[in-house]
Amino acid sequence: MNQRQQPDYFKLFSCCKIVKGFARSIIYDLQRKEYHFIPNSLYEILFLYKEKSIPEIKNGYDAESQAIIDSFFQYLFDKELAFPCQYEDLSQFPEMNNANRETPCLLESFMVDIDEKSNHDYVKIIEPLSQLALKAIQLRCFDRMDIVFIHEIMDLIKKSDIRTVEWFIPYNRDIHPEDWEKLIHEHMKITSITIYNAKEPDICYIQQATLIHKQENITSCEDCGKISKNVFTCNLHLYTESQQYNTCLNGKASVDVSGQIRNCPSMPVGFGHYRDVSLIETVKKPVFQQLWKIRKDDINVCRDCEFRYMCTDCRAYIKDKSNILSQPEKCRYNPYIAKWEGEEGYCAINAGANNQI
Ligand code: SF4
Repeated sequence: MNQRQQPDYFKLFSCCKIVKGFARSIIYDLQRKEYHFIPNSLYEILFLYKEKSIPEIKNGYDAESQAIIDSFFQYLFDKELAFPCQYEDLSQFPEMNNANRETPCLLESFMVDIDEKSNHDYVKIIEPLSQLALKAIQLRCFDRMDIVFIHEIMDLIKKSDIRTVEWFIPYNRDIHPEDWEKLIHEHMKITSITIYNAKEPDICYIQQATLIHKQENITSCEDCGKISKNVFTCNLHLYTESQQYNTCLNGKASVDVSGQIRNCPSMPVGFGHYRDVSLIETVKKPVFQQLWKIRKDDINVCRDCEFRYMCTDCRAYIKDKSNILSQPEKCRYNPYIAKWEGEEGYCAINAGANNQI
């Protein structure tokens, strides 16, 4: 009988990706949408010695380090980030292909900003988006709108090929919970409604949609671009997209409150008013799409950050306006010391001796 040997080797699950930062690394568990910090010394072990047996790896270290390596592998196995195996098994589990982000759609998402002065022609905006089989539209209101207005827009979108709708709208005491329920039941394309400037935070699920109340106020597009742990998304879509494309602007276009077509409403460059130029022809232009390919790996500071493939980028608010590759202005993380603003020992980038680029 063929006796199986002890499983001395290890293999990371293909949905578990290690991302090295300047001060520490992270294992992204893309299937469970979780992440685990590890020291860079253990990143080296996983990366450099991925085809060596665990006893071989341990041989190169002293007794104290060997105990740390044992507990590290136990942690990986317990969390189901890796599994023990034999040498012959290593080739049976191919690496996941990172470059699977091609999509047949020209645009994946479109944003329309609306305030009380906006005089948008919604038919003229929605009709071309329907031709593009747009995946998602986001409507962001900065002033109070009534429920009749929202129903009118939804009636237009209902007839289009746009697949999903997200609303951002300020709290209006004249719109009651039953009004939101009725809207969501009538319009199956609504996936979320975020009501900001609300009295109490709340989240509830109504049929296909999420209804979120936030106390935070949003008064204009300038409130966008804030980077925090709360907005990280550890999943396959963002991870693979970020290997090749910009995680904010790729496949995205917008119309600002005054009707200018832009990559995002906060970007300084406008490409003309949608009443004067063709929306479809504008977004097809290489000059419109040039920002879509700025990856996190191209961006100063972010390229050294372990969060870079779960962090949504911002190219509108950047630290150095003369350099399109500079770090997002509203990021308060220093990857050179692995600290967020407010944590003990934090210092701003370039303000302390530990910072290195
Ligand atoms: S340094 Fe860059 S990647 Fe890291 S958290 Fe800030 S914006 Fe995101």
